[in-house]
Formats: sequence, structure tokens, C-alpha cells
Amino acid sequence: MNEHNLLSVAFPKLDEIQISQLAGCTHAQPKLFRDGQTLFAVGERNMNFFVVKSGEVEIVDYSGDERKTIAIHRPGEFTGDISHLTGLPAVVSGIARGDCEVYEITGDALRQVLNQCPAISDIILQAFIARRQLLRESPNFTGLRVIGSRYSPDTFRVRDFLSKNRILFTWVDVENDPNVDRLLRQFGVTESDTPVVACGAMLLLRNPSNRQLADAIGIRQPLDDLVYDLVVVGAGPAGLAAAVYGASEGLRTAVLEQTAPGGQAGSSMRIENYLGFPTGLTGSELAGRAILQANKFGARLSVPTLVNRLAFENAYTLVRLDGGETVTAKCLLIATGADYRRLGVAGADRFEGTGVYYAATLAEAHLCQGSQVVVVGGGNSAGQAAVFLSGHAHSVLIVIRGDDLYKSMSSYLVQRIEQTPNIELLCNTTIRQMNGNGHLASVDIVHSKTGEEQTVETPGVFSFIGADPRTSWLPPEIERDGKGFVRTGADLARSPYWTSGRHPLLLETSRPGVFAAGDVRSGSVKRVASAVGEGAMAVQFVHEHLRHM
Ligand SMILES: Cc1cc2nc3c(=O)[nH]c(=O)nc-3n(C[C@H](O)[C@H](O)[C@H](O)COP(=O)(O)OP(=O)(O)OC[C@H]3O[C@@H](n4cnc5c(N)ncnc54)[C@H](O)[C@@H]3O)c2cc1C
Repeated sequence: MNEHNLLSVAFPKLDEIQISQLAGCTHAQPKLFRDGQTLFAVGERNMNFFVVKSGEVEIVDYSGDERKTIAIHRPGEFTGDISHLTGLPAVVSGIARGDCEVYEITGDALRQVLNQCPAISDIILQAFIARRQLLRESPNFTGLRVIGSRYSPDTFRVRDFLSKNRILFTWVDVENDPNVDRLLRQFGVTESDTPVVACGAMLLLRNPSNRQLADAIGIRQPLDDLVYDLVVVGAGPAGLAAAVYGASEGLRTAVLEQTAPGGQAGSSMRIENYLGFPTGLTGSELAGRAILQANKFGARLSVPTLVNRLAFENAYTLVRLDGGETVTAKCLLIATGADYRRLGVAGADRFEGTGVYYAATLAEAHLCQGSQVVVVGGGNSAGQAAVFLSGHAHSVLIVIRGDDLYKSMSSYLVQRIEQTPNIELLCNTTIRQMNGNGHLASVDIVHSKTGEEQTVETPGVFSFIGADPRTSWLPPEIERDGKGFVRTGADLARSPYWTSGRHPLLLETSRPGVFAAGDVRSGSVKRVASAVGEGAMAVQFVHEHLRHM
């Protein structure tokens, strides 16, 4: 979409009929705000939604060094963005400009409209998505400020956490940003305190943990103290699909995610084999839209929330969280996917986040701009990473142990690699050692057939060498195969842990009412589409289990 189209989608004008329909189904009455009065303020959660009847509402950004006007809503236009659906704090403020009359609609009433009036819902939802895109792409919007060094693993962790959670922020690199000294002085900190996180003129935190950061910026939603019909552990494609189908079919659904929604797919810069997206889409886009959809139907997403144990009581599953809390579920879906294997190379641990990466997104690409980078692995994720990085790095070396990329990678990706002049493939090759002082400077690679060694100067090694299931947190009652993947299906009727008179359903584990979907499941196809399909299917089985409970 070009900028003109994006602007018209972002700032539509409702006609009289649409406004009276909105006001009618939400019972909203006109309300007067005097010049300068605040309709909603930055940081506010569950803020109300306003349709302008007369006068103007100015949308103001206070996150940078000075106050900025982002937009002015005139009669027929409305306030708001995706925070209405995600329940996250507002990133801007709305101020009456002159006296203005508005229809004020609560967050809950807005959600109802979005579910029940498709014609208006489309206009509002598309505007919300387009507004967030405009803010994200705007060079003038600051958002949170992260001040830290490109060579600091904690700075990388904080940036990674914020970008995976789609929080708008600006990174001030201590190494080369001209404003660093002024900002450090302004916030009363020194370089040794970094990474620090600031919002507007306020210093929020010094080197926070992900959980502290999430609490400080208000993105961790509280969980209700009730029994959920369905608790999903993991918000990758499988978990998000289950959330959308579960919540839309009336199940009380909660999703618990340790890092950020999107899972492995969230770190893909181009998914080309997902049905319906012929030009491909980024994992982040897919996840962003799925989160909105899940929220729209009323699923509760809690991030970052690590589940570290399960216990069973009567027919219920007790889900223990790392903070000591317990969530009770009638049905549980294990959708914790898989984790990329660590590079077993001398020195690799020292450089995690400062030269060794397990994803290739813009966050990592910025750190390697114009340099030579090394991609390790011969699967599709390595191929995608190499193609993406070739657009940012000076050159990309793909290092594989085998002798033929076609054996492990889809041919469309191999062909793309062959056609990209700044990608070079090194077969029968492994990394022997990593070198550097504080941050990665070079790697020693060795040819397995000739024994020939070579040192390659590089600030970044991107590793995609297969994945292990994330199942170490599961109790013995959930049977796994020899590689640790969760077993499901009819065979488990013979399991000593199977306690029901009926047969296990297709995606059911050895414990009745506990299901598994996506990459974590034994025998699953490791693809976005199959994870989504299994997440959706699991909800059918949840209904079936609930009927017999
Ligand atoms: C770089 C890359 C590119 C890819 N590209 C493609 C592609 O183009 N096409 C394609 O079809 N497939 C692709 N894949 C594979 C695809 O992404 C996966 O098959 C898919 O993401 C699996 O989804 P999932 O929901 O089962 O698990 P995951 O995506 O692994 O998600 C699991 C989620 O569970 C969370 N979690 C784990 N343990 C816990 C816990 N104890 N408590 C709370 N949360 C937890 C994790 O943080 C994670 O978010 C790619 C994978 C990668 C890494």
C-alpha cells in the first residue's frame, strides 16, 4: 500500500448513518470536552474510544524531546489504535482542540461492535492497523528509548524483547549515536548503567529483566482468577490459532507465552509457503494480525509468562507459572514448539547476542550492516536468513556440513541463493572456533575433507542447525518419544497415565484433556501452516473433551 492509500485507510471519516449505528449499539451519548481537556492519556490502559461529532481532537506524542502532533481528528473521525484490542497502554494522548463534542465508547462496548457489526468493524480495524504501521515507520515517533551498546548482550536482549513484542522504541547506540552524551546526562546515568530504558523525559529502568521491563511498560496482562476452558502454553502459530478458534467459539481461553507471541515463525522475515499470501509475509506481520484476532474474540494473552510445571487435580490441570502463580484449566494445549540448537563451537557462548544469533530479523541485520556474515545450516530457515541478510550485509557465507544444499533446502530457496551474487556457499565445512574480544571479530572454519583452515572476519554468525522440543518442563504423565517430542493419539490408550474409558483423540496426549499441537508434537510437520492447522483442530477436540467432563 502506498503512503497516500495508507493515510486514507488510517484516517477514514464515518458517515452519519455509521455514526448513529455506532452510537446506537453502544448507547453512547454526546459528551463535551473543553479546549485542552484530555480525552485519554499516554500510558492509559483500556482507554475509551471517541468519535468526533464536532470540533477537533489532537493526537499528541510526548515520547521524544519535544511535544509532537501526530494527527488531528475532525468530525466523523475517531481516535484509537490497536491498543484497544491488545489491552496495552496508549502510546499517545488525545487532547481537545477547541471545545469539542464526541461520542465516548468504552473498550468493552467497542469490542462488541467489532464482533457484531462487520461493516464498521472493518473500517475501524483497518484504521487501527494502518495507524500502528504509520507510527512504526515514522522517523519522528520516538516511543521508548533504549540506550545501550551494540556490543552488550543485555542491550541486545532488551531490544529483541521489545521488537518481538512489537513495542515501538528507538535504539540509541552508545557506540555511535551523536546524542548519547546529552541523553545520558539528561537521565542522570553513565555508560556503565546501560542499557537503560526511558520514556519521554523519564528514566524507567536500568538493565531490566524482561519481566521487569514488561511490568514497567504495562504489557503484562493480569490473569483472571477463574477456571479457563482452555489454557494454551506457547503463542507460536499453533498456540495463536488455538486462541483464535477457542475464543471465537466461546471458550474461556488464556494463552501463556514466555517471550513474545509469534514463536519461531516470528523470527522469519519472509514466509512464502503460507496459503493465501503469494508474495509472502513476515512472521511478525502474521503474529501481529493473529494477536489482534485473538484479542478481538476475547482470548487473554499473558506475556512474558513462563510455565514451568504442571500438576493434575481431579479432572483439572494446574498450570504453575514462574512467578509462583497457578492457572487452572479444564483443557490444556501444549504448543511450546522447538528451540534452535546452540552452536557447539568453542567460544560460541561468549558471543550470544554480541555476534552469535539464532534469528535473522531487522534487529540483528542492523548490527551487521555492510559486513560479511556467516549463516550456519542447510535447512529452509538458514536459506531464508541468508537471502534476507544478503540485503543488509556486504556478503553472506553459508556454511554447511554436507555437500549439497538441494538435499536439505526447498529448491525455490536454493535457486534464489544461487541467483544472489553476494551469497557464497561453503560445503563440507564447519566452524572450529570463534574469536573476539567482547564481541565477535572472526571465526575459524575448516574443510572436513581437505582439513584446510581459513579465518573469516565477521561480526555475525547466524545459526540454524535444527531444533529440540521445548518439553523439559512437562511431568512424566505426558509421554514423549525418544527425542522428547510429545506423543499424541489413539496408541496412548495403553499408557499407564491414560485414565479415561474412551480412546485418546487425535491430538490428545497420555493425559485426558491435555492436547499438543505444532512443532512440539511427535510426528508433526514443522511448518507454519501445519502448526496453525493443528492449533485449530485441537479446539475441536477440546469441545469434545468438555462435552464428556
Ligand atoms: C527462522 C525461521 C524461519 C521459518 N520459516 C518458515 C517458513 O517460511 N515456512 C514454514 O512453513 N515454516 C517456517 N519455519 C518453521 C515454523 O516457524 C514452525 O514450524 C512454527 O513456528 C511452529 O509453530 P509452533 O506454534 O508449533 O511452535 P513455535 O513457533 O516454536 O512457538 C512456540 C512458542 O512457545 C513458547 N514457549 C515455549 N516454552 C514455553 C513455556 N514453558 N512457557 C510459555 N511459553 C513457552 C515459545 O516462546 C514460543 O513462542 C521457520 C522457522 C524459523 C526458525
